[in-house]
Amino acid sequence: MKKSIALLLLVAIFGGIPHKTIAVERADLIIQGGTVVTMNAASRIIENGAVAIRGERIVGIGAKAEINTRFKSARIINAAGKVVMPGLINTHTHVPMVLFRGIADDLLLPEWLQKYIFPAEAKNVDEQFVRWGTRLGCLEMIRGGTTTYVDMYYFESAVAEETVKAGMRGVLGETVLDFPAPDNKTWDAAIAYAEAFAKKWKGNSLITPAIAPHAPYTVSTDHLKQTHDLARRNDIPLIIHVAEDSAETKTIQEKYGATPVAYLARIGLLDNHTIAAHMVWPTDEDIKTLASREVGVAHCPQSNMKLAAGTSPVPRMLRAGVEVGLGTDGAASNNDLSMWEEMDTAAKLHKLISKDPTVINAREAIEMATIKGARAIHLDKEIGSLEVGKRADLIIVGMNSEHQTPMYNIYSHLVYATKASDVESVIVNGRVLMLNRRVLTLDELLIRKRANDYRDQVRKSLAAK
Ligand SMILES: [Zn+2]
Repeated sequence: MKKSIALLLLVAIFGGIPHKTIAVERADLIIQGGTVVTMNAASRIIENGAVAIRGERIVGIGAKAEINTRFKSARIINAAGKVVMPGLINTHTHVPMVLFRGIADDLLLPEWLQKYIFPAEAKNVDEQFVRWGTRLGCLEMIRGGTTTYVDMYYFESAVAEETVKAGMRGVLGETVLDFPAPDNKTWDAAIAYAEAFAKKWKGNSLITPAIAPHAPYTVSTDHLKQTHDLARRNDIPLIIHVAEDSAETKTIQEKYGATPVAYLARIGLLDNHTIAAHMVWPTDEDIKTLASREVGVAHCPQSNMKLAAGTSPVPRMLRAGVEVGLGTDGAASNNDLSMWEEMDTAAKLHKLISKDPTVINAREAIEMATIKGARAIHLDKEIGSLEVGKRADLIIVGMNSEHQTPMYNIYSHLVYATKASDVESVIVNGRVLMLNRRVLTLDELLIRKRANDYRDQVRKSLAAK
């Protein structure tokens, strides 16, 4: 009490404001009492901290006593004994593919794609499939503390509608390629859809529309240039798979006489609106290009390991100043959307490959899932850390489970011990989406039932030939 009076007096004296006019500010929600892991530039951690939220944004962050003096809120969430941190950012996925989770595993990439994924997509993916897949994916992501995800799929306007209903933030790329897709059968139809999609969603407070040419080997040079023109015209991100496996590198080298990165740079596709997924095989020269052009990279360690695509040179990219975030890739090649596993895997994979346990320490792994991920998707002014003025996207993580006991170091615990199921509450854009493990925006039971129905349908469709 004494402290707060002293603070008010100080503000009154030095702020030159008459004492009586110092009104306590209104907040819509205060989360208090937890250990606030801000992930800001100073890596500030506040014990017994608090975050005040008004509308869609963070308006105060600091010690609990300080925030309680400055703000009054009808709604308070007690986070004592828990961690309050920025929501996790999944920088690469194909969210409706959760309905293909575990459809085929332990196969070579061409066989996996040609025998299972492409036929299953051709026979099953329509707008309803995409809606139910998005609902299931959002449910899984919210329950695991992911607040923003970057998507590449079809019927992306339906993905956007379902994402908004779930309350999540999305950078959603309508996928275009030179072949007929489940939503658009010709290139011109796909581009027209992408343009209308961009115009419809531009400016939405949750959705950043994007265009997503599938890869340099599935989209011609001329068509790639068209996607870049569309991205520039609408001021939206461009998402693309790049240098995912050595076969792609070989194909592009033979066809265009350059590495995938050098080729895309040459045709003008790489700039500070590009989000490049995978980036397993860049050369040193490519890494310089990525850094100088401010291309964001989505590193998907579990997907790359499962499909034996290779190991992305993440430590080298980070040293060169490339912004690298983490992604799960689609659930058909992962097989879940847990960013906690992705952090843990990223840290361990690069230690193993480099034979150096100091590489990608725990804090760096969390950075890739939060603030660096935000930079990689060019949204760091809005999300990625807990700071006044940023969007109120944050999670409350329980720290009392047996696998988290006892605790010595918070970053270590978050990366090496914490699991998606330890996330208790999730707030996106100031709205509470999950409270004490109960998701408030989605019908969990119905979604599980419909997902199982789709499993039966997909099985039948593949057996039918
Ligand atoms: Zn992908």
